Amino acid sequence: MEMDKLVALCKRRGFLFQSSEIYGGLNGFWDYGPLGVELKRNVKEAWWRDMVAGHDDLATLPGAPGPYAMTGLDCAIIMHPQVWKCSGHYDLFHDYMVDCRESKKRYRYDQVQGRWVEAKGQRIFVAVPSGEKEDEQIEQRALKYFNLRAKHAEELHWDGPVVSLTTVKDFSQVLGPDAKELGTLTPPREFNLMFKTTVGALGGEEDVAFLRPETAQGIFVNFKNVIDSSRVRIPFGIAQMGKSFRNEITPRYFTFRSREFEQMEIEFFCHPRQSPEWYRYWRDRRYAWYVGLGLAGERLRLRDHSPEELSHYSCGTADIEYAFPFLAKGEFGELEGIAHRGDFDLRSHMEGKLVRKGNELVVEMGPDGKPRHKGSGKDLSYFDDQTRERYIPHVIEPSAGADRATLAFLCEAYCEDKVPDENGKLTERVVLRLHPRLAPIKAAVFPLVNKDGMPEIAQKLYRELKREFNVFYDDKGAVGRRYRRQDEAGTPYCFTIDGQTLQDNTVTIRDRDTLKQERLPLAEVAHRLHELLR
Ligand code: ATP
Repeated sequence: MEMDKLVALCKRRGFLFQSSEIYGGLNGFWDYGPLGVELKRNVKEAWWRDMVAGHDDLATLPGAPGPYAMTGLDCAIIMHPQVWKCSGHYDLFHDYMVDCRESKKRYRYDQVQGRWVEAKGQRIFVAVPSGEKEDEQIEQRALKYFNLRAKHAEELHWDGPVVSLTTVKDFSQVLGPDAKELGTLTPPREFNLMFKTTVGALGGEEDVAFLRPETAQGIFVNFKNVIDSSRVRIPFGIAQMGKSFRNEITPRYFTFRSREFEQMEIEFFCHPRQSPEWYRYWRDRRYAWYVGLGLAGERLRLRDHSPEELSHYSCGTADIEYAFPFLAKGEFGELEGIAHRGDFDLRSHMEGKLVRKGNELVVEMGPDGKPRHKGSGKDLSYFDDQTRERYIPHVIEPSAGADRATLAFLCEAYCEDKVPDENGKLTERVVLRLHPRLAPIKAAVFPLVNKDGMPEIAQKLYRELKREFNVFYDDKGAVGRRYRRQDEAGTPYCFTIDGQTLQDNTVTIRDRDTLKQERLPLAEVAHRLHELLR
């Protein structure tokens, strides 16, 4: 599937628009249109239902070490600045960037790729932003730089494969991604990804606050509140979904890397001894969730991090990744990370920002011999009144992005095929094969023609269904065209009122994927739709 086609469909049918488009847009920000808002709501609703609201805390689910409870939370986006100092985001949440003195563009250091090449007695590193067809782009840029025609491409002597700019020590021989001359890239510099804002009218340095870059910290700082107010016992999880903000250096790939996005995060608190089992449980459970909603096959994978990749506090992390069509062949993009975080977060908010010393996590000290970032001093340990044991729980964190999941479901669903029209002739159609739970519109209702009492029956059915489902009424144009319009929106079922309805009170139901049509009594439509969407 070509990404351009999906992007065009998203705009044409109202899934996604560039933010502030009439003013030229704002890079890294997106708006969900009428269909998009329903789709994303359904993704979030499916997550909340499956993980939180519909969770059976009396049963032991397959693969789980035992029964557990789940509860939710909805925290403020702006929190006390100390939260981000103790969590490590203030000091460590940065990417490296390089600037180009010539083009004035800025790139994420690790996202610039390139290749060494020699021609006309000169050896240079030709850089491009990482992405599709890097090889071709690099060759074209090299030809241009050396002033060679395509037919003289054999004069370019390549030295090694495409590698990251991070492998290059000296930038003097680097041709930046948008530069004409060599050596225009600055050395890499740290760039904190948190958006800053000011709280209150005075606006001094001490009033600086941050927009949260993740929802997780709101859960940790409320751990005690939840325990004290809701009678949950360990093991249990707290879930939260909501907006997060990161001032990404290079937002790109449609909504994949945005500056404002939504996360769906769970912090699962358990006894340290049981934490490896819970980690495995959540890793597998979250993978199965995506499969159940339609992502499958070789495009979805669960990848365990190698020990070198693990964060300093983590004893295990896995990513659920999807082979998005905008990535180079063989590359995958992260949908969700599942991390075993030990007691790092709760301890940080008790004691202050932690650093690793050998095998231990210790409070980081400043030059004055005091903690660099002081914790809350509150006791965030847990007392198990049955075993009479007090301990700091370990945490498993499945952290997903609602926008990335939505984008993956869209990419997976997009399909072009040929279907017979009313006269049996094969015609092209675009169809979104979204899982019925995710489809923005669950069913459409059509009167075959706008006469003979058909519209009245169709409107009655529409109103009845509308009470429970998001349904759509359409009486414009040939019925075949109406089907096509619903196929593009991903609507799984269409009900048509026709001549026979007037005689025997039956309607046709047409299935988006199989194209099968069958008749069923008008009175059974709502019940059938229930069954189909379950
Ligand atoms: P990446 O390496 O792609 O920047 P990350 O490892 O920093 O992601 P996490 O901090 O683990 O991401 O965030 C959890 C989830 O939040 C990600 O798996 C992703 O789905 C989502 N997410 C993170 N950053 C963005 C973003 N800029 N735009 C959209 N979604 C994002």
